[in-house]
Amino acid sequence: MITVQLSMVNIFWFRRDLRIHDNPGLALAGKAGQLLPLYIFDPKQWIGDPYGSRHYQFLCDSLEDLKMSLLEQGHILVFRVGDPAAILSSFFEEFNVGALWASQEVGDHCARDRDRKVTQCCSAVGIQFEQVPQNGVIQMLENRDTWARQWHNFMLDDLVTLDAQPSSLIIRSDAMPCPTIFGLSGERNSNIQKGGRACALELLSSFKKTRGQHYSKEMSSPVTAFEGCSRLSPHYSFGTLSVREVFQNIQRKRKRLRENKSSHSKAWARSMNSFSSRLRWHCHFMQKFNDEPRMEFENLHCGTRGLREECFNEAFFESWKQGQTGFPLVDASMRALKATGWINFRMRAMLISFASYHLWLHWVRPAKHLASLFTDFEPGIHYPQVQMQAGTTGINAIRIYSPSKQARDQDPEGMFIRQWIPELGSVNTKFIHTPWNDPGKVDDYPSPIVDESHARREAADRMHSLRKSNGFANESKEVFKKHGSRARVLRKPSTKSHQLGLF
Ligand SMILES: Cc1cc2nc3c(=O)[nH]c(=O)nc-3n(C[C@H](O)[C@H](O)[C@H](O)COP(=O)(O)OP(=O)(O)OC[C@H]3O[C@@H](n4cnc5c(N)ncnc54)[C@H](O)[C@@H]3O)c2cc1C
Repeated sequence: MITVQLSMVNIFWFRRDLRIHDNPGLALAGKAGQLLPLYIFDPKQWIGDPYGSRHYQFLCDSLEDLKMSLLEQGHILVFRVGDPAAILSSFFEEFNVGALWASQEVGDHCARDRDRKVTQCCSAVGIQFEQVPQNGVIQMLENRDTWARQWHNFMLDDLVTLDAQPSSLIIRSDAMPCPTIFGLSGERNSNIQKGGRACALELLSSFKKTRGQHYSKEMSSPVTAFEGCSRLSPHYSFGTLSVREVFQNIQRKRKRLRENKSSHSKAWARSMNSFSSRLRWHCHFMQKFNDEPRMEFENLHCGTRGLREECFNEAFFESWKQGQTGFPLVDASMRALKATGWINFRMRAMLISFASYHLWLHWVRPAKHLASLFTDFEPGIHYPQVQMQAGTTGINAIRIYSPSKQARDQDPEGMFIRQWIPELGSVNTKFIHTPWNDPGKVDDYPSPIVDESHARREAADRMHSLRKSNGFANESKEVFKKHGSRARVLRKPSTKSHQLGLF
């Protein structure tokens, strides 16, 4: 191994920010001196839930792409396999390190543990660990009142990029590890979205040019959403695109649409407005989790503790996981997700709502299961969304999604259901949402595991009495003060029973 060391080395540690464009931490590290770009494969992340083969495949695609982009700028991406704190310590011993740089991450408990250890080992040798904001999440936020404005300012700020500056550092790199060393499947799954910035840019371009025109109408139905949604989510999660660059790109499109008054551009404008607000939601949820990481394990609202924890029905959970509940849209959504790594927002919400209300399962294990299936798993969005759909935040209206109503509204002809449940392929459309009523009976598809209306009524009654209990409303106010969106500041937190909704 040859090491030529001309000046202080600045290590940039890539994590969930696998891009060189609009990566503020990387740009700063590059300006600070000799750059050493590093990615560490941490075995702890890959052993056990929720990360698995689909995430690993997306990661490796993205790293290949990143390696080439860095090379074009004269930098060699170094790979290491092992414990990040130990690996970084060995770099600190070997090199004259100026600082360790990284992008801020809103991580789960493993990522926070890892960062605590790395911070300790940096302090022990007096090396600064600079974690630079990358997506509008604000550390040590005092309250939510000014958050939206600060987020907007960050999103409109200039994009940054890494200066081309050939490095003279030549450092041994480990090979990218074969997934099997972490016990993951070595076979490529071609149904999972492909990672890498090139794919992200293609998706953004096709969404902006054609696919996004009817986004606001097409996002809710699983028949149209696979094509009509942007499908950019795994790219934000792995950081192959920044939310800011997409926001600015869409702002330019919105401006052009405002100048053009045709009816064609009205549909586009509506869709791009909805899309743009969702980019703010992305960071709004991540901010919530950043400020309250216990949401990975505990109900946010103390008054909802003990609601479902004690009575987990394993058989229900297994049927839900296997797409065998007897409710066609629930099962088709679960099977589609398992096969492709993605499902649209409304079906995600329905899956958790069904598990939480109809099956009365505490959300922690269903959340882990979905995280293992979502290629775009992002703890900062996932846990707050799960808790919102499970009714444990205490500040959101209770939405009990009816699987039959959703099926009639979102898949009226049963196209999506037939695609993912071949057992129902020949069922008459009249019975596709309620195959149990078909006189021809389908033998290889299960009967419903619960009585839908009875289970919903029971869940609604439980939630209703909980929300009326002593102290519930006061705690809701506190939760709202800390985490509630100020988009509609005048609206009070929804603690009343009339906000129990059937969707
Ligand atoms: C129970 C549940 C769990 C979820 N878990 C995740 C997760 O782990 N990772 C994840 O990225 N999203 C999650 N979402 C949010 C949402 O479903 C996905 O972001 C979206 O379906 C991704 O597809 P897309 O990129 O085509 O989205 P588009 O509809 O094209 O939206 C564009 C972007 O806006 C953001 N966005 C859209 N909807 C939401 C939302 N409701 N909340 C926050 N941000 C949003 C995402 O960054 C998304 O990529 C979850 C939603 C629910 C109900």
